[in-house]
Amino acid sequence: MDLFCRLMGDLQKGCTAVVHFPATDGEPAYVVKVFLRGGLLLLVADSPQRALMCYCKHPNSFSRFPCMYCMVEQTQDNEGGDLGDQLYDIVANRRTRGLMLEGRSQLEALASNPVQQGQLSSALGVVAPQEGDVWLLFEACDIVPSRVTPVESLHADALNAQALVQKYLIALLNTKGRELISATMRQRKGNNLYPPGAEPLKDPVADYSSLTGSDKWLLASIVLLVFRAVFHTTATMVSSCSLTLNTQNMRVPTEAMQAI
Ligand SMILES: [Zn+2]
Repeated sequence: MDLFCRLMGDLQKGCTAVVHFPATDGEPAYVVKVFLRGGLLLLVADSPQRALMCYCKHPNSFSRFPCMYCMVEQTQDNEGGDLGDQLYDIVANRRTRGLMLEGRSQLEALASNPVQQGQLSSALGVVAPQEGDVWLLFEACDIVPSRVTPVESLHADALNAQALVQKYLIALLNTKGRELISATMRQRKGNNLYPPGAEPLKDPVADYSSLTGSDKWLLASIVLLVFRAVFHTTATMVSSCSLTLNTQNMRVPTEAMQAI
């Protein structure tokens, strides 16, 4: 990784390259000198690796600064802090290269005091320097890694937001609803739930934890078919869900909330 960063850094500055073209189709071999310049176009990795390379905190429900692209803050109160503000300015509050490098030097200065270093790391939303780091992405490559790292949908969507929604839907079901969904998933013969070639899923009611990220994506694409018997009418929703419905609002039972 070090060598990769240094080579990429040199390429960003530009260099003279000698290119040898071999003889081909009766044409003689020849050599040309060219000006070569390049850079990092895209950095693709899964969430844990992205957090390592970008030196941002791994996002979870307790991260104070869970976003690798901006400094949106998450608090543990009812509002959730700026994270719940749809008008939060992600451009004005973006993470910059200078911000990250400044944070790193402050953390380095506290290397002999791990407690203070940990507190500052949390306050800055920057991971403390460790052996084997690739800060060269910032230094030699002169980039902000998060600018070339796209969102990683497997962890962010399939295993996180989408999984929460699916678990929430399942948690809403009463015994009858659970039996309905399980019976739907057990259909094998003449089953038109799945796209051609897709393997049938395990029962998400009984065995949700064993579904992989791609299984959860597949479930998302067929969830309306799976839940059609439940969502068919208000009457089927009432008889299949452990919800208390009235004309004023919809109350979700504590059990369902705890499940997410
Ligand atoms: Zn952000």
